Amino acid sequence: MSKQNVILLHGAGIITVDPEERVYLNGAILIEGDRISAIGKSDLLVAEYGSRADEVVNLEGHWILPGLINTHVHTSQQLGRGIADDVDLLTWLHERIWPYESEMSEEDSYISTLLCGIELIHSGVTCFAEAGGQHVSGMAKAVEKLGIRACLARSTMNTGEGLPALWAQETTETCIKVQEDLFTRFNGSADDRIRIWFGLRQILNATDDLLMRTKEAAAKCNTGIHMHVAEIPYENEFVTQSRGVEHGTVTYLNKIGLLGQNLLAAHSVWVSPSEVEMMGQAGVKVSHCPAAAMRMLGFAPITEMLSAGVCVSLGTDGAPSNNRMSLVDEMYLASLINKGKVVFDRGTTDPTALPAETVLKMATINGARTVLQSHQIGSLQVGKKADLIIINPHKWTMLPLHDPISNIVYCMRTENIVSVMCNGHWIMRDNKILTVDEESVIAKAKEAAAKLIKRAQIQLPERGNVIR
Ligand SMILES: [Zn+2]
Repeated sequence: MSKQNVILLHGAGIITVDPEERVYLNGAILIEGDRISAIGKSDLLVAEYGSRADEVVNLEGHWILPGLINTHVHTSQQLGRGIADDVDLLTWLHERIWPYESEMSEEDSYISTLLCGIELIHSGVTCFAEAGGQHVSGMAKAVEKLGIRACLARSTMNTGEGLPALWAQETTETCIKVQEDLFTRFNGSADDRIRIWFGLRQILNATDDLLMRTKEAAAKCNTGIHMHVAEIPYENEFVTQSRGVEHGTVTYLNKIGLLGQNLLAAHSVWVSPSEVEMMGQAGVKVSHCPAAAMRMLGFAPITEMLSAGVCVSLGTDGAPSNNRMSLVDEMYLASLINKGKVVFDRGTTDPTALPAETVLKMATINGARTVLQSHQIGSLQVGKKADLIIINPHKWTMLPLHDPISNIVYCMRTENIVSVMCNGHWIMRDNKILTVDEESVIAKAKEAAAKLIKRAQIQLPERGNVIR
């Protein structure tokens, strides 16, 4: 067996997000290979391991955090950033996103995922859950190169109004078979950084047969299902009428047994109090995407879900619905929006709603539970994978640092994240991504995006008095 690389990071503040919520003011972490093998006070670890480490990094004045986990992102939509701003949901989907996605090539998906990955890494993300996009093989190639961790899923639809012909003809059989093949080909690849999940775009685009077969196939593969759930009131009306249940999507998914531990329910905005209870009891995981919800969907009952024991994590959603792929921004928004929701609901303020430590857990350990990997990521603990980020707070954005956890949630900007490690490897050092050449990806992305929008015949109305 080849010798494992040993790295000692010391002299830093460490927010572990472990079960005891330990925060070291002057701590150290020892990394051997892809795992954390020791964590504790800096002077003790330096004395014990300093001489045998291959790399010793003095991080005085910096803070170390678990890598952030983005639980809802559409990597193949990155080239479509800005194609669907300030439009209603049907225009967004039928006239912009579906034409864009149906014209996408495997190479486009690869470039789009690289571009998205660059933004994710800069914002401290070491693991993401793909919501279901185009050409999973292109995504997997990009994730392998980027060095991050991902749960990839294919956009899966077999019914629905206005669906491009390419997808409308897909049978349930094909939908399942294609995903099973992807599972066989890519699950556990890239040093086990890649996991393959089953995708269900949303209930408006899935027959009952597809829902049930997806549940069975995911159980057989022992993997997760990623689905958009209860996004708009119309979705609940549609389910009530077509499936004859009392409230909507969540009630129906509960009835057919799809609401379970391995369901990642994105958004879950329009859910009733009894549906929140159902979600808690079933152990379903929710990805709260604050920016996308404010743009298109509405206020999700996040504090109610957390009180009911639902595991809620954070996501950015795709570039055409947000448009910032920064989980740092989502942490800030999550707290503000859910404090604001109290005023909306009860006509009174509650600044204690969704405090900073809860938001930080949503972005880390809850994210790990959401992607079904809390045994190995989401907190800094001995035996877990070395997925971590280093923050330099000594900038005008974050100082002074009276209350570190609060500053990380309320003040930190993406630019404060200086280095990122995933699976024991540095993927960004001193703000420079080491795994891909950013300039070359940006150049390729500009070209691919322009060609794709042209092929998809997407025409954006001009804003302002444009002078050529
Ligand atoms: Zn989405």
